[in-house]
Amino acid sequence: MKYIVVTGGVVSGLGKGVTASSIGVVLKACGLRPTSIKIDPYLNTDAGTMSPFEHGEVFVLDDGGEADLDLGNYERFLDVTLTADSNITTGKIYKSVIDRERRGDYLGKTVQVVPHITDAIQDWIERVASVPVDGQEGAADVCIIELGGTVGDIESMPFVEALRQFQFRVGRDNFCLVHVSLVPVLGVVGEQKTKPTQHSVRELRALGLTPHLLACRSAQPLEQSTKAKLSQFCHVPTDHCLNIHDVSNIWHVPLLLRDQNAHKAILRQLGYQNPPEPHLED
Ligand code: ADP
Repeated sequence: MKYIVVTGGVVSGLGKGVTASSIGVVLKACGLRPTSIKIDPYLNTDAGTMSPFEHGEVFVLDDGGEADLDLGNYERFLDVTLTADSNITTGKIYKSVIDRERRGDYLGKTVQVVPHITDAIQDWIERVASVPVDGQEGAADVCIIELGGTVGDIESMPFVEALRQFQFRVGRDNFCLVHVSLVPVLGVVGEQKTKPTQHSVRELRALGLTPHLLACRSAQPLEQSTKAKLSQFCHVPTDHCLNIHDVSNIWHVPLLLRDQNAHKAILRQLGYQNPPEPHLED
């Protein structure tokens, strides 16, 4: 199983969900079978009790699971049927660990965030990733994991640490990290600013995760000089600095990724020597 982790920096609502689903679309067009997991670092067990005014519409899955709208994006983009377990929340993880503690499963050990919560997160990811979601038999080829929130939030720390450990659990050829970041333009200067992305990559690296690709959200396409600067300061090759500017319709995002050969960069990172070409119609 190959894993693609999508994190976000600088601000929330950047388009991590759309980016993650679009990566899935391109990989599916390459002939791979994707599945996905959404991590929401809030303490609610699920989105069912959250106000839609605050959190947006609740998406109800076929098994009755109430989840974040991103799960709906995944189902529509990837043509899969996800389950309540495809949405991991802090509430669910803590509940499972506390239930195990009450049963005595930890055999008298002191139950801690590291290793018990972080192990529970990794076990959950591996378990859910192996469940077929596209009506075919056998596990999917690639699991796309979106980490909600912004890197550096207190809430997401156990998940970041679990993913840091996870890259060693699954091996470097099976782990690709895509960091979605913002490249704003300052009105008067009119220049695309890379500093917010530099800071968020530094934060991520300080936590032990190095992005293999940057997905840069911007109003207009990135200039070549902006990509060169991002590459220089963020330790990422220029052709791994993807440009996801604002588009009129989010269904154009997979085409943007394809046109920049994102699938090649991702699949090479995942150990494919000759990545297949995607069959995607414009
Ligand atoms: P996040 O997962 O980071 O919270 P979402 O994927 O839910 O963000 O996207 C937030 C909003 O931005 C959604 O309304 C989505 O349709 C919109 N959006 C995302 N990417 C783009 C893009 N490239 N162009 C225009 N709108 C986008």
